Amino acid sequence: MRELYNALKATSTGEVLWQEPMKDHTTFKIGGPSDIMVIPNSIEDLRQVIKLIKEEAAKKFIEIPFMIIGAGSNLLVSDKGIRGVVIKINKSFSNITVKGTTLISEAGATLTAISRAAQNSGLTGLEFAVGIPGTVGGAMVMNAGAYGGEIKNVLKSAKVMDLKGNIKVLSNSDLHFGYRHSLFMEESLVALEATFSLEAGDKEEIAARMSELTKQRTSKQPINMPCAGSVFKRPPDNFVGPLVEKAGLKGYRIGGAEVSIKHAGFIVNVGGATCKDVVDLIKHIQDTIKEKFGVSLEPEVRVVGEL
Ligand SMILES: Cc1cc2nc3c(=O)[nH]c(=O)nc-3n(C[C@H](O)[C@H](O)[C@H](O)COP(=O)(O)OP(=O)(O)OC[C@H]3O[C@@H](n4cnc5c(N)ncnc54)[C@H](O)[C@@H]3O)c2cc1C
Repeated sequence: MRELYNALKATSTGEVLWQEPMKDHTTFKIGGPSDIMVIPNSIEDLRQVIKLIKEEAAKKFIEIPFMIIGAGSNLLVSDKGIRGVVIKINKSFSNITVKGTTLISEAGATLTAISRAAQNSGLTGLEFAVGIPGTVGGAMVMNAGAYGGEIKNVLKSAKVMDLKGNIKVLSNSDLHFGYRHSLFMEESLVALEATFSLEAGDKEEIAARMSELTKQRTSKQPINMPCAGSVFKRPPDNFVGPLVEKAGLKGYRIGGAEVSIKHAGFIVNVGGATCKDVVDLIKHIQDTIKEKFGVSLEPEVRVVGEL
């Protein structure tokens, strides 16, 4: 790994970090070190970084795993950390442009930034995204949604890079969107850019809707606590929060991980929570809800790294 680190350090025009604590790159504030973290600063840099990792792996007849992250707001990283390379797509990929009713955003822009850019241009369709603390890339992967809105409803196309460095544009229907699902979960692709089709609207009304949604979010969700949003996907014909609350688990704690008192669908890190604390708490909630109500809960949070 050290050799790869040195080679990346010599080649990349971005940042290359050794043994970088993942707790500094996740909203849960949990996670051991990634062997190497690269924060590329251009598409060409990203392409070279992926090429170098693959060449190094081929030279040594080994697999060198790598994964892409955005804001780390849907990730639970293991206490041992991540073996291989983590590539973080953020500020260097945050350009947003508006042409007519089309908004084009690079993958590292935040959802709040695109929502505000749309509002500033009098475009409606992205109000739901305000306050979701992820990047556009992570949102395409997760098909993020809130308050009746979803990425798949407004995304026209996505620019992606495959692992050979080829760039292609995929249409909405190519992206296999479903509830918290997309093509990115089926194939190894890096999300580079999103093109959204929006509609002309009234700036004041859009702003009012956004502040109404922000108020709802602030009053109902523990947004000031380290967490990763809703822990579980919504089960058919049911809601996670009320089920967990009915089971008497609100405030239930394992180590530093607690079922949020504000919203029982969230787990918060009340201080020093480990990945194991959260994983154990997830298992406890799943077992209790299955036993009491016969409902299976599937995690929405993505657990990654060496377990
Ligand atoms: C307080 C709070 C509230 C939240 N509310 C909501 C909500 O209302 N609705 C909702 O849907 N989610 C919500 N979330 C979860 C989270 O913000 C979303 O899932 C978001 O879309 C994740 O984006 P990210 O950039 O943080 O992705 P990450 O967490 O960094 O990564 C998520 C997945 O996407 C992959 N990925 C990230 N970027 C790329 C890229 N450029 N190319 C390829 N793969 C990539 C990662 O490998 C990983 O599999 C909330 C989270 C928090 C902490």
